[in-house]
Amino acid sequence: MTAARALSAVAAGPVRRTRRTLADGREILYFDEPGTPPRTASDDRELGERSRAGELRLDALTGDWVTIAGHRSDRTFLPPADACPLCPTGRGTVPSEVPEADYDVVVFENRFPSFASGTSDVPDVPDPIGVPDPAPAGPAGRGASLHALRPARGRCEVVAFTSDHEGSISALPPSRVRTVVEAWADRTAELSARPDVEHVFCFENRGVQIGVTLHHPHGQIYAYPYVPARAEAVLRQARRHHAATGRTLGEDLLEAERAAGVRMVLEGRHWSAYVPFAARWPVEVHLVPHRDVPDLAALDGEERDELAVLYPELLGRLDRYYPAPGGEHVVMPYIAAWHQAPVHSPREVSRLHLQVFSVLRTPDRLKYLAGSESAAGAWVNDVSPEAIAHRLREVAT
Ligand SMILES: [Zn+2]
Repeated sequence: MTAARALSAVAAGPVRRTRRTLADGREILYFDEPGTPPRTASDDRELGERSRAGELRLDALTGDWVTIAGHRSDRTFLPPADACPLCPTGRGTVPSEVPEADYDVVVFENRFPSFASGTSDVPDVPDPIGVPDPAPAGPAGRGASLHALRPARGRCEVVAFTSDHEGSISALPPSRVRTVVEAWADRTAELSARPDVEHVFCFENRGVQIGVTLHHPHGQIYAYPYVPARAEAVLRQARRHHAATGRTLGEDLLEAERAAGVRMVLEGRHWSAYVPFAARWPVEVHLVPHRDVPDLAALDGEERDELAVLYPELLGRLDRYYPAPGGEHVVMPYIAAWHQAPVHSPREVSRLHLQVFSVLRTPDRLKYLAGSESAAGAWVNDVSPEAIAHRLREVAT
C-alpha cells in the first residue's frame, strides 16, 4: 500500500466522544467515527466499591518511587473469550466492562488500577510532587524519614482498539487507527490537566510472553503522580543537549540517523522510524515525528493521518520478522511505548517518540532480564542494531 493511497483511506470527519459512567462510578469514554449510533447503554452490574488508591513508597537507596498495589493481585487473568471484559456486552456469557453492544474505540478507568484518585489509607501530603514529605511508617526516630510514602494518586485507563476480540492494531484500517490516535491525544490532554498528574504514558503490551492478562487488543494509559525514571533520564539528556548546542536532541538524533542511513527503517513526510544506535532489546525500533512535538496532543491533523498509516505498517513488520515453518510467521510479542514530555517539564526541549521492542531474541527464545539488566541496570544486547534495521527493511510490504 502506498502512503498516498493509504492516507486517502483515513476517515474524514470528527470523532465523537461520549462520556458515560460505569456501575461503580468509573468513567468510560467512547470514541466513535461518523455514522455510529449514540452510546446510551447503562451498566447494570453489581460491582461494589471501587478500588482505593494504593501507596507510593520511596526507595531511599535509588530515589525511585515504587507503587504498592496489593489489590492488583486479584485482577482478571487470561479469561476465556466468552468472559472477555473488553468485548461489547452481549457477545459473551457475562456483562463486560463495556455496556454497549458495539463500539469503535473505547477508554475506561481500570478496575484494578496502580494509581487511582479514590480514597486512600495513606494521608495526603501537601508538598509538591517529586519532593517527598517523609511520613514515619514506624516509631519516630533516626530512620523514620527514610520511609517516605504518599497515596498512589493518578489514574489508569484501558484503551480497547476495536470491538473485535481476534483483531490486532496492525490489522486495523487506517481510519480506525486514526480514531485510536484521537483517543490517545484526548486522554493525554485531559489527564495532563489533572492536578495529581506529572506524566502521561500510553502503551500496549502484546503477547503472553510480555505478561498480558487479557487477549483482546488493547492498550493502557498510566497517568503517574511523579516522573518515572526513564522519562526523567530522557528529559535530563534533552536539557543537556539543548544547553550545549541550542538545538533539540530529537532533531539532531533524527538527522544523525538519516546521515548514517544504516539504521533507518522507514521515512514518511511527517514521521520516520529507525533502530536506535544503542538499541538495548533484540528487536527495537523508534518512530519519531519530524517536528519537535512534546506529546500526542500536540500533533497536527496531517501528522495524525500519517501516523494512522505508518504505525500499523511498523507493527505489521514485527509480525513478519521471524519466519515459522510452513511459510507462516511468529506472532511477535511486543511493548509499544509512547514517550511524551513530562507534564510540567520545559516542553520545548522534548520530542515525542514511540519505542517498540520485543523480548523475542530468536523465533523461539526469549531474552530474560537477568543479573546484569535486572540487578545492575546494565544492558547487553546480543543483536546488532544494524542487523535489526536490515531485517525491518526486508519485511516491508
Ligand atoms: Zn474480547
